[in-house]
Amino acid sequence: MENNSNIKQNKGDAASAFSFRDVDYSKYTCTEELAVEAEVLLQKQETDRLRELALDYGRQTGHPATACVVTFGCQMNARDSEKMIGVLAAAGFEITDDESADLVVYNTCTVRDNANQRVFGRLGHLNAMKKSFPMKKIALCGCMMQEPEVIDKIRSSYSFVDLIFGTHNLYKFPELLCRMFESDKMVVDVWAKSDEIVEELPVVRKYPFKSGVNIMFGCDNFCTYCIVPYVRGRERSRRSTEILEEIRRLAADGVSEIMLLGQNVNSYGNGIDGEISFPKLLHEAEKIDGIERVRFMTSHPKDLSDELIDVMATSEKIARHLHLPIQSGSDAVLKAMNRKYTVADYMVLIEKLRRAMPDLAITTDLIVGFPTETREDAMQTAKLVKEVGYDNAFTFIYSPRTGTPAAKMDMTMKPEEITECFNEVLKNVQECARNATKMLTGTEGIALVEEINDHDPKLVTGRLSNNYLVHFPGDRSMIGTYRKVRLTENKGFYFYGEII
Ligand code: SF4
Repeated sequence: MENNSNIKQNKGDAASAFSFRDVDYSKYTCTEELAVEAEVLLQKQETDRLRELALDYGRQTGHPATACVVTFGCQMNARDSEKMIGVLAAAGFEITDDESADLVVYNTCTVRDNANQRVFGRLGHLNAMKKSFPMKKIALCGCMMQEPEVIDKIRSSYSFVDLIFGTHNLYKFPELLCRMFESDKMVVDVWAKSDEIVEELPVVRKYPFKSGVNIMFGCDNFCTYCIVPYVRGRERSRRSTEILEEIRRLAADGVSEIMLLGQNVNSYGNGIDGEISFPKLLHEAEKIDGIERVRFMTSHPKDLSDELIDVMATSEKIARHLHLPIQSGSDAVLKAMNRKYTVADYMVLIEKLRRAMPDLAITTDLIVGFPTETREDAMQTAKLVKEVGYDNAFTFIYSPRTGTPAAKMDMTMKPEEITECFNEVLKNVQECARNATKMLTGTEGIALVEEINDHDPKLVTGRLSNNYLVHFPGDRSMIGTYRKVRLTENKGFYFYGEII
């Protein structure tokens, strides 16, 4: 923060640099805020320019410009894709799921296993389309683009790609698209810099009645297997006033379920003087008129507080589901992963959670085959799954991510051994999931109807507070509404039910 006379001076400089006459300078307390706002306004101008370019493109091809955004990976990426679709729709593109569109954007993920290979494989397919329609545009963004070796490979072997940008400059999407349409060379704009959060990009939501809300970006935890802190940057939280304002806008627009998103929501607010805690943010969010259900993801066990458990337990709107990744049931492996908790610490949390909310569904992430892991370690993970009695778990075989400390560690187990251990862990996960659904059969719950069932149009699919899916008789008019249902039949991981 600067002293007042400097602020005035810098505000003036920033204003003339961006040439905005309509900025209300009295709203700002420092030049950083003004610069961010100015960037948003600049991007609005760029969206207008993009609209012109899209129209021009349509005139040349003889049809309105179409765009397809393909998301790889996590909820954060899905949210970024919604923002990109929002920008494209605002600029007049027709949005489609079909990759034969004029513009295809791959929003890539690099967190898990062979994600990079999948993207490179699919690029070959896009290249074939581009050969028969050379005006086609291909853009790549997301975590994978933060890796310098990936950029080198695309430059040398996939030169048909038109635009590459990283995770930190998504807010410049309209400007980057303009540069792409105006250039016949590959546009590359990837920054290592990651400390800016820009508000107010347009968003198109996949579902009109539910939406993700980013509350923070990046991660400071540096788990040794994970690339996120390197590609998404250091942890930084949005201001609660901005978040709550966004939720109010969403509620006014018909959204009743929100999911607060961050790599580690439990450390929300760290580094912002006077900011409210995550549990308080949840509590403020659920008080907003029109909001009926609040979810959040993801929680790091080391930061899960008693305050959060209390707020969850006393709330009727916060979902009865907690995703609490443990990753391994062995203290030695947790240490090698730099997870900063022990199995005993985790079990204390589970006990507190179960005592406060006996109906809470708990899910987790598990990694089998971490470099230092022995068969005995993996069997401890299998045992822990049963001890916790998870409702479900994302279970992965470890795959190294270039640039992480774990990628340089020597493997202890052979691939066959890892597969055997993985199968053992998975068997226990499936058994626990079946037990959990068996226990819930015959109970009642409130389901938010999300869509018509894929296989039977006489059924709708709803999501319960505990995140289980239930299919029951219904029609399109029920989509977006909450229905009380009884779970009549258990299908292992989901239910059939009836309205009561
Ligand atoms: S908490 Fe660990 S696993 Fe999760 S995003 Fe951060 S570094 Fe990656």
